[in-house]
Amino acid sequence: MPTPKGVKSHVLLKRLRDILAEQGEGQERLNKITSVIADSMAAEVCSIYLRRDERTLELCATEGLNPESVHQTRLRVGQGLVGRIADRARPFRTKNALSAKGFRFMPETGEEVYSSFLGVPVQRVGEVLGVLVVQNKAERQYTDDEVYGLEVVAMVIAEMAELGAFTAEGQKAMAMPHQRPFHAKGIVGQEGVAEGHVLLHEPHIVIANPVADDPEVEMYRLATAFIELQSEIDDMLSDENLSATGEDRAVFEAYKMFAHDKGWRSRMEDSIVSGLAAEVAVEKEQSNTRTRMERLTDLYLRERLHDLDDLSNRLLRILTGREQNGAEMWEGTILVARNIGPADLLDYGRKLKGVVLEEGSVGSHAVIVARALAIPLVIHAARITRKALNGDEILVDGDAGEAHLRPEESVKLAFHEKVAMREEAQEEYAALRGLPAESKDGVRIKLEMNAGLMNNLPSLESSGAEGVGLFRTELQFLLRSNFPSRSWLADTYSSVLDSAEGLPVTFRTLDIGSDKVLPYMTREEEPNPAMGWRGIRLGLDRPGLMRMQFQTLIRGAKGRPLKVMFPMVAQFDEFREARQRLLDEVAREKKQRHLMPSKLEIGVMLETPSLAFAPDQFFELADFISIGGNDLKQFFFAADRENEHVRRRYDTLNVSFLNFIEQISERCNKFDTPVSFCGEDAGRSLEALAFAAMGLRTLSMRPASIGPIKRLIRFVDLSETKKVIDEARASGSQSVRPALETWLESIGAPHR
Ligand code: PEP
Ligand code: MG
Repeated sequence: MPTPKGVKSHVLLKRLRDILAEQGEGQERLNKITSVIADSMAAEVCSIYLRRDERTLELCATEGLNPESVHQTRLRVGQGLVGRIADRARPFRTKNALSAKGFRFMPETGEEVYSSFLGVPVQRVGEVLGVLVVQNKAERQYTDDEVYGLEVVAMVIAEMAELGAFTAEGQKAMAMPHQRPFHAKGIVGQEGVAEGHVLLHEPHIVIANPVADDPEVEMYRLATAFIELQSEIDDMLSDENLSATGEDRAVFEAYKMFAHDKGWRSRMEDSIVSGLAAEVAVEKEQSNTRTRMERLTDLYLRERLHDLDDLSNRLLRILTGREQNGAEMWEGTILVARNIGPADLLDYGRKLKGVVLEEGSVGSHAVIVARALAIPLVIHAARITRKALNGDEILVDGDAGEAHLRPEESVKLAFHEKVAMREEAQEEYAALRGLPAESKDGVRIKLEMNAGLMNNLPSLESSGAEGVGLFRTELQFLLRSNFPSRSWLADTYSSVLDSAEGLPVTFRTLDIGSDKVLPYMTREEEPNPAMGWRGIRLGLDRPGLMRMQFQTLIRGAKGRPLKVMFPMVAQFDEFREARQRLLDEVAREKKQRHLMPSKLEIGVMLETPSLAFAPDQFFELADFISIGGNDLKQFFFAADRENEHVRRRYDTLNVSFLNFIEQISERCNKFDTPVSFCGEDAGRSLEALAFAAMGLRTLSMRPASIGPIKRLIRFVDLSETKKVIDEARASGSQSVRPALETWLESIGAPHR
């Protein structure tokens, strides 16, 4: 076994453990700790700074500095040497602190006489809880081993803090780190509000004994955990659902490589030799990984570090003998995760009241599923997984894209008011259910809903939608780990039509490629997938796949009317070709004596600007057109719909875009081709109104938007709306939004 590094940390750690075991008050413990550390490191000063809140550090105990400054001295994270250590989550040492860049003189502490300085972050799985500092008068350079030794000690302090070893009445900075309220400002993944308790997808582990009794035993535990980890990964690699060469396999191959990485493992072994329990040794490595992850901008490397992070979680799960994720669910569960795959999310199922993700993107599959399930979802909620503990109280405000963890009373009150207002509005929408969306001047707008899962269909009745304007068939494929069979698909389509009870359903053929990647299909890396091999392009190039979907749609219709449309068509020929193949399939099915749909309508999505300028014959041939605004807008403005830097840069109510929508509407009207809008914008009040004013008479949206949009349409005069828009357009405004908003305010229209 290697020799312990530097300071005799195992002796020191045992002394710390004894302090933890003793009865006593938090402050007393901290005082003892600083004195024991100073003693064993031959330092004249040892101080512990803990986080008072997100931005402030407070000196909570010291051996050597002026005792009067305890709980008085505070600094901002990022300020001074101590603040910088907390900010960067990295140790810092210097022979001459006074002349070190960033040094901040705090006269009340009397530290100016101490020249040498070594500080390390007190952190737990990447979350900095405070800073541990030692200082000496003489100019000396602390060795690497001393830095390492102090880091190990800091790990134990972090675990002790988590156990609540330092809690004290009235001392905010000494409270358990996971007791303070935390507000996460993320972005909207799916609107809606929810209140409940946290279920962590990857739970934190509270380690009762961070110090190893016997390093030999801990070493053995780690070794057996590694054997189990490696065999788990081997099992995953031999899973027959894994494609032979696909991306999924590459992920597990990378896992395997990490699981056999000697450097990763030997760093954990070093920590055990220094006196840490195996779990804490894993956590120490995990902290380092997470700190590195935060600093990396290279997406590929970040992903690899995520893999390592996942593996650390697995190791911890093995070491602590914990259950698999999601075993314990309760009513009102709010799932908190760094990120989550669509299948995992669906596994948690309908019991989930809300989801908060630290990462995710608006177009990710998890977001698509959460939308389909109508679960309020916040994404990009920075640091939420580190701040939350299982069972914590949490409020999810999907409308504002934020979450409140362990909320204070005032926050709860405001939230409850918001919920009550929403409920009132829901009642109002319910009362409108049977009424048409007809404007004051008698223009009738048809409101349909978007869907993609069987679970969505009950909303058809409750929302008052007049049909499904867009059924995204790829969701059925995305959620599976293997290719669906023909009979399964035909049954699914049939059940969709059963649930619609005669209301029209527009099935969009598979729109895979781009962001929607099937886990079981090998895919070429594409430099720009949104403009790559996707939608109808993939369909036409894979005739077998397309035929299979046509067959199942025809069979699923079971003699009822069938509406089909194609995604991502960029030119007339693509539509003509796809349409012909569908007609050929109908003929083939007829020959085989399958029941024919009583009516077949073949339409197309308008998602590329080029299609708006297609020959007249295109508009004549299409039975209907549906504007896929999500894609159309991204190609119109050349702004990636998933890129946070640009996604909201161009307003949908931008005059150029509205003019374009108007032209499309006019061209369709000229040929009597029914046209609708089914992108997300159809479900936003001002946008929906503007589209109606531009001539669109059918809008398809998420079910929750139907009530508010109907209420607004019924309130306004559409020709007045058009006038307001025309004036704004004539005035040279870039967007008609301000004018429309002002006008709606002035007439007291319910537009939020
Ligand atoms: C669209 O692009 O507007 C659309 C409805 O399709 P999706 O969001 O599935 O790409
Ligand atoms: Mg699209």
